Amino acid sequence: MKCSAIAVRIPRLGHRPRYTCRPFSQRAFAARHPSPSAHKWSHPPSSTTIADDEVAGLASKPLHALSLADLVKHGRPPLSTEALFSSANFTLSLLPIRLAHRIQALRNLPFIVVSNPNISKIYNNYLHSLSTLLPYKEKTISNLEDEIRFTSVLADLVETHSHTIPTLARGFLECRKYINPLEVTRFLDEHLRARIGTRLIAEQHIALHVSSQPHQDPKSNKHESDDQSSYIGVIDTALQPASIINSCGNFVSEICELKYGVRPTWIIDGEPDTTFAFVPVHLEYIITELLKNAFRATVESGKSHEPVIITIAAEPESPRAKQRDISGGSPAADDNPPIKPFEDSAPGVTIRIRDRGGGISPDVLPNIWSYSFTTFSDDDELPGQGNGSMDALNAISGAGGEGSSIAGLGYGLPLSRAYAEYFGGGIAVQSLYGWGCDVYLRLKGLGKPKG
Ligand code: ADP
Ligand code: MG
Repeated sequence: MKCSAIAVRIPRLGHRPRYTCRPFSQRAFAARHPSPSAHKWSHPPSSTTIADDEVAGLASKPLHALSLADLVKHGRPPLSTEALFSSANFTLSLLPIRLAHRIQALRNLPFIVVSNPNISKIYNNYLHSLSTLLPYKEKTISNLEDEIRFTSVLADLVETHSHTIPTLARGFLECRKYINPLEVTRFLDEHLRARIGTRLIAEQHIALHVSSQPHQDPKSNKHESDDQSSYIGVIDTALQPASIINSCGNFVSEICELKYGVRPTWIIDGEPDTTFAFVPVHLEYIITELLKNAFRATVESGKSHEPVIITIAAEPESPRAKQRDISGGSPAADDNPPIKPFEDSAPGVTIRIRDRGGGISPDVLPNIWSYSFTTFSDDDELPGQGNGSMDALNAISGAGGEGSSIAGLGYGLPLSRAYAEYFGGGIAVQSLYGWGCDVYLRLKGLGKPKG
C-alpha cells in the first residue's frame, strides 16, 4: 500500500490556523480504501447504540495518568512503521476508557439536564466516538491499512468534538434553573480538562502519522520536510512564545478592527528570543483569549492608543537539573491528572500581559473564573454590566461561537487556566481598578525529552 498518498487533517482549537496542513479528504480516502461495515465515515450521532454494560465496563477501568513521556516515547518523526503501530495501539488503549468515563459523567447529570438538546448532542457525540473505536477493541494494529483507518477515525473524533464548547455553554445556560451553579462548574472543569487530554492523545497520533508521511512538493519535485525538526507530534521542543504572541496579536487586533473599528497595538519586551518545549495550539488558545480580554478592555476604556505590554521572562535553568523518570505515570486518582514534565526542573516561562484598560471592578472580580460569566454585551447602546449568563447566551446566539468574537462566552479565563494548569502552570490576574490589569501566565517548560 502507498501510504504516502494519505493526508490527515488536524483540526484546530477554534481560531485561525497558523500551520498549513494538507487537506484530508475523507471521500477520496474512502474511495481508495472501501471501509468495512463496522467503520462508517459519517453517521448521525443519535443513531449510535452501545450496550450499557460495555460503557460501564470501560468506565470502571482506571484512567492512565498521561505523562509527556507517553506522548514522546514513540520518538521523533520520521517514525518507523513499528513505532507508528505502537503509537496507534497505545492511543487505542487509552481513548475508549477516557470516552467511557465522560459518558458516565454525563449520565450522572440530572436527567432534565442531559435531556437538553445541546447537552444530549454532546453525550451522543461521545457515544458515537466510542462506537467508532470499539471495532478496534480486540485488535492490535499491525498493518498500515488498519493504522490509516484508525488515524482517520481519530481525525473524525477530533472533528466531532471540535464545537463542544459553545454547545455545552448553551446547554448549561438553558438548564441553569435546574442545576446548582457549583455543580455546573465542577462538571465543566472536569469535563473540559479531560477533553484537553483526550484531544491531545488523539492529535498526537494524528500528528505522528502525518509527519511520518513524506510527501512531494509539486513545485520543487523533491521531498518536502513535512514538519520542523523541533516537533515531536504536536509538541514543539523549541517553541518561541514571542512568535505565537505576534500571530495571535494580529488575529485579535483584526477582530477588534471589525468590532470596534480600531486596531490595538502591543509591545513585546523582556526576553523575546526565549524558546521552550510546549504544545503550540495550547499556547495559541491561551494567548488569544488573554489578548482578547486585554484589547477589549483597552478599546472599551478609550485607551486604544496605549499599547498592551507583554513581557516574556524565562526562568533560569537550574544547575541541578535532574532527569526525571519518564517511563510512565502512576494510576490516576481522577480524570485529569496533570501531565508530568520531561524533567522536574525544566525551565519555565512567565508571560505578563499588561493593559491600561481600567482594570476589573471589585464586584466583577470574584466572578471572572466562573464559566459563562461575562460583562460583554453585543448591544452597543447597552454595554454589559455583568449580566453574566444572559450576555453569554446572547453572544452564543449571535455571530459568536468559539474563537471568532472578541468576548461573550465567558469561557476565556477559566478555560485558559485549565490549559495552563494541564502542564503544571497557571494564570493569575492582578487588577489595578481604575488603571488596568496585569495577567501572569506561568508555563512550566516541558523540558527536553530523552533521546
Ligand atoms: P469573556 O471575555 O467572554 O467575557 P472571560 O472569561 O475571558 O470571558 O472574562 C470574563 C470577564 O473578566 C470579562 O467579561 C471581563 O469583565 C473580565 N476581564 C477579563 N480580563 C480583563 C481585563 N484584562 N480587563 C478588564 N476586565 C477583564
Ligand atoms: Mg475573554
